[in-house]
Amino acid sequence: MVAVDALQHLVHFSLGVVPSLDEEARDVPQHREPALALRRDRLETAVPEVRREIRRTIERSAPHVVSLGALHPCDDTRAVPTESLREALPKRITIVEVAPRDGLQAEERILPTEAKLHLLERLANAGHTVIETTSFVSPAAVPQLADAEELMRRLRPRRGVRYPVLVPNEKGLERALGCGVREIAIFASASESYSRKNLGRPREEAIDDYRKVVRRAKDEGLRVRGYLSMVFADPWDGPTPTGVAVDVGRRLLDLGCDELSLGDTIGVGTAGSVVTLLDGYRAAGVRVDRLGMHFHDTYGQALANALAALLEGITVFDASAGGIGGSPFAKTAGGNLATEDLVWMCRGLGIATGVDVEAVAGTSRWLGEQLGRELPAHVARALGAAKPD
Ligand code: MG
Repeated sequence: MVAVDALQHLVHFSLGVVPSLDEEARDVPQHREPALALRRDRLETAVPEVRREIRRTIERSAPHVVSLGALHPCDDTRAVPTESLREALPKRITIVEVAPRDGLQAEERILPTEAKLHLLERLANAGHTVIETTSFVSPAAVPQLADAEELMRRLRPRRGVRYPVLVPNEKGLERALGCGVREIAIFASASESYSRKNLGRPREEAIDDYRKVVRRAKDEGLRVRGYLSMVFADPWDGPTPTGVAVDVGRRLLDLGCDELSLGDTIGVGTAGSVVTLLDGYRAAGVRVDRLGMHFHDTYGQALANALAALLEGITVFDASAGGIGGSPFAKTAGGNLATEDLVWMCRGLGIATGVDVEAVAGTSRWLGEQLGRELPAHVARALGAAKPD
């Protein structure tokens, strides 16, 4: 019998072993490990059918519980949030995993295509349903992603997983269409200087240029996501007025973007900035379900900002395994909000992500080895240290 307490993330079960009538009685040596044992919070059983039954019951009764893996000994994330907090938070969020594109483009060490395919595979295995895969920008501008065509050709798409790609212009869109891409993202800047440095053209011109790109993409039946960078401040221009960040974002939505991701590209925002910006969008008639948030952890505010956004009703968050990713065009940008840190927090709040924190943390540690450096994500490091030798 397996029972799940959906609120407390606890799984209660008892296992009855019924010997088969035609099986000969045999002695079980006393020193043997039992087939089923609970060590700390870890479910360890040698009986695959028991594992499967528990998994099925959890999926039926408590879909937000996604992992039966080991927890850190100090983990207290199963504390049940108070009723008022639970009511204020969404039940489920979607994570847009951006490590393969936004993350890798900031890395000096160029990963071979094979390693990128392995990364995509592991991220899908971890439960991700949206993985930004690569970018069809100029190979000279971003050498890390120069293998976009080869990557898309060799990618074996997983059922139920979306693989959007970034395109900077019509040429990029044509390349993406040639690879059978079904979803694209375009990117603009709320500030003037970053637009000139990152896109090589003034902000107004860039947005205007996207008109044709979005129209063509929609004609082809693609889903289009808009990224808006520097929504709180720009390293050259200073603070971005909320009115400007809202106005530029609205224009991207008006072009036909299905969703708009608001990016604190240099990570200077705080929870207060998040609320102010989202208030601005609401006042402009934009529903929060058309918005996603993209935080950077430069000043250690990414998770706090994510929590503020959750309380404002945002259910789409960009995050990067291991917390990799700055911007090659803005040196003051720290890493992206780390996926495993976000998943850990959501698990503690009873918010379903569909993503297995252990699997992402393991992927991050592997990715760190590939990139030759320790990655900034807290949870990957903590869970790695907690692993028994
Ligand atoms: Mg980023």
